[in-house]
Amino acid sequence: MDATTVREIMIYPDPVLRRTAAPVVRVTPEIRQFIAEMGETMYASHGVGLAAPQVGIALRIIVVDAGDGLRAVINPQIIAREGSQTGPEGCLSLPQLHGEVTRAERVVVRGLNTRGKQVTLSGDDLWARAMQHEIDHLDGVLFIDRVNPNSLAWTTGETDEDGHSIERPTSLEDARRFFERQSAALRA
Ligand code: ZN
Repeated sequence: MDATTVREIMIYPDPVLRRTAAPVVRVTPEIRQFIAEMGETMYASHGVGLAAPQVGIALRIIVVDAGDGLRAVINPQIIAREGSQTGPEGCLSLPQLHGEVTRAERVVVRGLNTRGKQVTLSGDDLWARAMQHEIDHLDGVLFIDRVNPNSLAWTTGETDEDGHSIERPTSLEDARRFFERQSAALRA
């Protein structure tokens, strides 16, 4: 098997991020290799989760590590949700942007593991948030579609004299325009 490689992350507004991803028909060694690369890519980017469309592959595969180990789910489906939580969210495909998103507090997810066996997983808090965020990606849905627009802000990477990180509030429209301009500049 090839050594794993870190893949390039697609940045909004790359059209692959808006596609509906296709189910995986068979869990082949190639799929397992790809999932290993998704994990490497997620850790290299310090993400909590990653969906296959974010590396340009429109297949229904996600990886999540909310601090309790790597979970890869193929063809994931949320079969139950409970409660509600509102908290900060960001996305590797929309770097530096974050905002408050309301999600279910607890979800039950069903799908296939890397051996192609059906698994049912459940969890709450950050794990549940990450699962919902990544499964959204498979339907072309991004956190900016669900964010409270008044909470949207850029991380500047700078800190104030008390060591708190400095954030710059933005509107959804301005944030979108920023990414569109950046993508046009990269293509030029
Ligand atoms: Zn994301």
